[in-house]
Parts: sequence; structure tokens; C-alpha cells
Amino acid sequence: MAWDFSTEPEFQEQLDWVDQFCKEEIEPLDLVFPGAVRSKDPKMKAIVDPLKQQVKDRGLWAIFLDKELGGPGFGQLKLALLNEILGKYGSAPNIFGCAAPNTGNMELLAAYGTEKQKKDWLEPLMNQELWSAYSMTEPQGGSDPNLFKTYATRDGNEWVINGEKWFTSAGLGSDLLFVMCTNGIFVVPTKTEGVEFMPEGPRAHNHIRYNEVRVPLDHLLGPENGAKVLAQRRLGGGRIHHAMRAIASCKKAFDMMCERALSREAHGKVIGEHQMVQQAIADSYAEINMLRLLVLWTAWTIDNSSTQESRTQIAACKYTAAKTLREVSYRAIHVLGSLGTTDLTPLQAMWAGAPTMAVMDGVDEVHKVTVARNVLKDYRPHEGVFPTEYIPHKRAEARKKYADMFAADPELAEQADRMARYMAARG
Ligand SMILES: Cc1cc2nc3c(=O)[nH]c(=O)nc-3n(C[C@H](O)[C@H](O)[C@H](O)COP(=O)(O)OP(=O)(O)OC[C@H]3O[C@@H](n4cnc5c(N)ncnc54)[C@H](O)[C@@H]3O)c2cc1C
Repeated sequence: MAWDFSTEPEFQEQLDWVDQFCKEEIEPLDLVFPGAVRSKDPKMKAIVDPLKQQVKDRGLWAIFLDKELGGPGFGQLKLALLNEILGKYGSAPNIFGCAAPNTGNMELLAAYGTEKQKKDWLEPLMNQELWSAYSMTEPQGGSDPNLFKTYATRDGNEWVINGEKWFTSAGLGSDLLFVMCTNGIFVVPTKTEGVEFMPEGPRAHNHIRYNEVRVPLDHLLGPENGAKVLAQRRLGGGRIHHAMRAIASCKKAFDMMCERALSREAHGKVIGEHQMVQQAIADSYAEINMLRLLVLWTAWTIDNSSTQESRTQIAACKYTAAKTLREVSYRAIHVLGSLGTTDLTPLQAMWAGAPTMAVMDGVDEVHKVTVARNVLKDYRPHEGVFPTEYIPHKRAEARKKYADMFAADPELAEQADRMARYMAARG
């Protein structure tokens, strides 16, 4: 029997360690030194580096990378189980060496980089000696890559990049920008002349102009004109990782809702005894588990095939995660009443994160289109006006199976007619 929802005892031990480590080490860090994890300040490094070392010592560093790409090769299913814990803590993905946008860029380097590119960029990114950002979206349109204009022209031993990008997350603090041009993806050191950060853009997601930016020929990643293929590969992995971490946020909101339901009284009973609060709990319980099973099944499918072959499932995870986070965080806020509406609990940030999830990594609509299109490939139109399941036609077909029996025994045919009339009369 192959369907099995259990976790290997050795990996469960790792997960238990991660859970405890996050509660005891990472949560306090997040509360007292938020942002320390990317700081170059020696005092912050002295706090953060030993935590990373503990993760490395447990063999849990950068576990998103397969063995052939230089990682420990745990696969997506184990990563999903790990991310279900890490997603509760802001700094955890970085402490475990598996935070976006670095992860996607490392995956690209691992899959398409030359030996020199891997040495120059992959290794330092893995060790967090360098930080990177991904520059794809443009101000005139994000959902449709056919609208992108940023272009690289070859000039002697260099590529010259011109264009404008919008919403490059963590661009300002990065050392390397992975720039999607219409004719390829290029690695651009952030300090290169001509890289201009627009001052009025969003603080954490930068608006960047690339003005005659020159990079050596070997800064092209993968083949020339391969941008769309590389971008698909990069974003596919990222989306499922976000969905894994969204489960963690949903669970946290759910735990808060349940704790409050047992702690607060109104109109003569604890609020968890009011049916509408029970409905909020019951619906959230079912929705979180539906999301979780969808994500784990998708992770398992990736492990047993490829990201490309799991595209439909990944797309479904993407918008289901945003929807579940929206529903569950809203209900949790509501059950916490006035306190839920403040920033004194994590709930407001989770609720605000739901529309963000619905836009980032491609808007939900585009993923729904992908799912519907791919699903419809397995169907064919019915012949004639009525659908295949039209009962009168199906019954007439079915009666043919008994034609010989009806011919031999007319009473049997009558009995079948009576039964059909009786069922039709029942409606
Ligand atoms: C938190 C966050 C981080 C991000 N990080 C990065 C990053 O690091 N690098 C980067 O390059 N980009 C990044 N992005 C940008 C992201 O990729 C784009 O926001 C996304 O692709 C949508 O593009 P857009 O914002 O231009 O919206 P638009 O393309 O303008 O879409 C707006 C709306 O139009 C509608 N729409 C669009 N297409 C369709 C369709 N086919 N069918 C029906 N309706 C449709 C939808 O309602 C959609 O919400 C990030 C975004 C967020 C929110």
C-alpha cells in the first residue's frame, strides 16, 4: 500500500529539533533584532552566525537544493514539512539558508550556471556571503512577459543592458541582480555603473533603471533567448515554497483563534461554545488541511517527476494558499475582536499578507487560467446537444445490455420501465 501520511522517525526527530530551535532561538531574535539575519554588523553576525552553524551541523542548511545541484537532496516533501515550521518565523528561512529571493537564483545557477558562474556566485550565495535579487517585473506590466522591454545588446566583449524594472524585492541590499531581459537572464553586480535605484519607489521592492549597464559576456546565465524557460523554472519552485510557508501562517492564526475561543466569555458561555465561532473553527480546520494535503501531494509529485510536470498542481497551490490565508486570518482576527484589529498580535500582518500572496509570483488569475487550460486538455467536447451524462441517453444505452433478456422475458422489460418511472417520479 503506497499511500502513507507518516513521517520517517529520523526526519520527525529533525522536525522536532527545528520546532524547538525556532521557538527558543529564532522567535526571540525576531522580536528583539528583526532584520539581524541580513545585517553585516559584526555584533549582529556574532548572534546570527552560531545559529546558522547549528543548522548546518544538523545537515539542514539549504535543503531546497537537490543533491545534483549541490544540496543535501531531501526533496520537496521534506522541505514542505520543514517549511510548515519555518513559515511561522520571519528570520527562519534565512537562518536555514532557504529564503527567497536567493533560493530561486541559486536554483538557476545550480541548473544552468557554468563552473565559473557556480564558483563566483553560487558558492557565496549558499554561504550568504553574497545576497541577490530577481529583477523581472516592469512598470508597464507584470503578468504578461510579452510586455517586457528590457534588452541586452552585444557590444564586443560585453552585454549592454537597457530597461526599467519594478518591484525587485530586496534589490537595494543585494550584491547581485538577476535581470530578466527579453533575450536572456543576466547576472549584474548591483554596484555596476548605470544601475539606478529610483528614490520614490517602494522601499523593500525596488524600482530600478538599467542605463547602458555593461557586463562581461559570461554574465549571461543559460542560453541566449532562454529567459522565459529559466524564469518558469525559477518561479515554479518559489511558488510551492511560499505555499508551504503559508500553511505555517494559517496554522498560527488557527492556533490563536482556538486559544481565544477557550479563553473568552460572552453571553453566558465561553465563545468557543457559540455555534458561529465553532463554524469559524470547523471551516478553518478543513480548509487548512485541504491546503496542506494539496501542497504535500504537489511536493511529492515534484519529487517523483519534475517541477515542469507538476505545473498545474503548483499553480493550484499558489492561489489556494492565498485564499486560505485570507479566510483563516480574517476569521482569527474576528474571533479576537478588538485585539485582533490591532498590531499587538501577528494577525494583522498575516491578513495584510493575503492580498500580497495573491499578487506575488504571478497574480492568482493567471494561475487559475493555467489550471483550467491544463485540466481541459484531458477532456473532449460531447457529441450532439446533450452531455455524456444525459440520463435518458445513458438509460437507452444501458437497456441494450439487457436486450436479449428483455426479448426472452417481456415482463422483465416492463419491470424495468416501472422502476424507471418510479425513480423519475421521486425527482
Ligand atoms: C511582495 C511582492 C514581491 C515581489 N517580488 C518581485 C521580485 O522580486 N522581482 C520581480 O521581478 N517582481 C516581483 N514582484 C512583482 C510580481 O511578480 C508582480 O506584481 C506580478 O507579476 C503582477 O504584475 P503587476 O503587479 O504588474 O500586476 P498586473 O499585471 O498589472 O495585474 C493587475 C491585475 O490585472 C488582472 N489580470 C492580470 N492578468 C490577468 C489575466 N490573465 N486574467 C485575468 N485578470 C488578469 C488581475 O486582477 C491582476 O491582479 C513582487 C510582487 C509582490 C507583491
